[in-house]
Amino acid sequence: MHIKTKSINSESNIIMNINSKKILVVGAGFAGACYSRTLAEAGFEVDVIDKRSHIGGNAFDFINENGIRVHKYGPHLFHTSNLRVMRWLSRFSEWTPYTHRVRALLPNKQFVPIPINIDTIKTVFGKNFKDPSEAEQFIMRLGENYKNINNAADYLYSKIGKELTELFFRPYTEKMWAANLEEMDASVIKRIPIRFDGEDRYFPNDIYQALPSNGYDNLFASIFSHENIKIQLRMEFDKKIEKEYIHIFNSMSIDEYFNYSFGHLPYRSIKFHHRNEKKLTQHVWATTNFTDMGPFTRETCWDVLPNNCKIDNGIYAVTSEEPCDYLENEMERYYPVKTADGANEKLYELYKRMASDHGRITFIGRCGTYQYLNMDQVINQSLLGAHNWIEKMSHNKA
Ligand code: UDP
Repeated sequence: MHIKTKSINSESNIIMNINSKKILVVGAGFAGACYSRTLAEAGFEVDVIDKRSHIGGNAFDFINENGIRVHKYGPHLFHTSNLRVMRWLSRFSEWTPYTHRVRALLPNKQFVPIPINIDTIKTVFGKNFKDPSEAEQFIMRLGENYKNINNAADYLYSKIGKELTELFFRPYTEKMWAANLEEMDASVIKRIPIRFDGEDRYFPNDIYQALPSNGYDNLFASIFSHENIKIQLRMEFDKKIEKEYIHIFNSMSIDEYFNYSFGHLPYRSIKFHHRNEKKLTQHVWATTNFTDMGPFTRETCWDVLPNNCKIDNGIYAVTSEEPCDYLENEMERYYPVKTADGANEKLYELYKRMASDHGRITFIGRCGTYQYLNMDQVINQSLLGAHNWIEKMSHNKA
């Protein structure tokens, strides 16, 4: 494919070689992988760079010293109802069905299902309900009347009342976001449904829940395995290399790209503490959420995952998560912060306008678009984005 358009980099005013097919993708996570593969299959030559020593972005996993598969950056449990996304991924890996379950650890050391369901409500309030609708009525009476829902606290107080909010959501959210429920946008909490029946799956609304049978690392290796894709790891992005490419798809944080000229976009980060344990403490569920005010939000026991490669040697791998500001964790950006006042989105928009003036760059993925996206949403957006860009280029050519 020859590209006819004369792309002009407004910053350096370089007129591109009109026959060039070279694309730069910054970041080898899901967004970068989807763009790379789609563009490579359309005949573009794709150079991928990543500052880390591995592909896979935050989904990267590895087999630890005891033969157990561990997700280096915390649990990445794939779930989607998007058939197109599932079909695309299935080109590159076998998938092992997996149903994720989580329990919250209460101050009295009891474990209860989270998201809240009828068993959670029974345990917390010491009540029995003859059916889900009785539990629902009970919780509805606890809900407070709000004219407008302006933040996560309003949402929770209106839905489940004070007691459940303070127990399951306030400490966890403060640890996670270093902000209280009144400061956070309701959409952050709406990720967690509230149920009145016995459903205890974390993602029951999604048709597909599965893990790549040979791990994410192999999945990514397979996606990037194309003659038109070249990957360079341990390589920081440098604007100087842009001139070699007709377009740059960049998953770095947009504020960093523009030298923080409007200020920093905040991100939460996580310090992952990986350890080995002799005794299995959790059997049925993989993740335990903590309701206390200690430093940790949750803990994942990897041997519960069906693709964990576990050999029964009595040793189990566990990872606990300690949230922090990304500035305290070597600039590792994991979560864009969606506050109720929308301030961070407004800041992002300023940078986005700068990016559209650039003309040859598209920001992609969680950091590039500053959105709290699940894996399937990143994949869907990226596949669509790549196809749309290719179509636009072929129109320019015609
Ligand atoms: N949350 C909470 N208590 C919980 C689980 C979640 O307060 O036990 C809140 C918290 O603010 C969290 C948000 O809900 O950041 C979204 O939770 P989710 O499990 O979707 O977070 P992720 O897996 O993306 O880290």
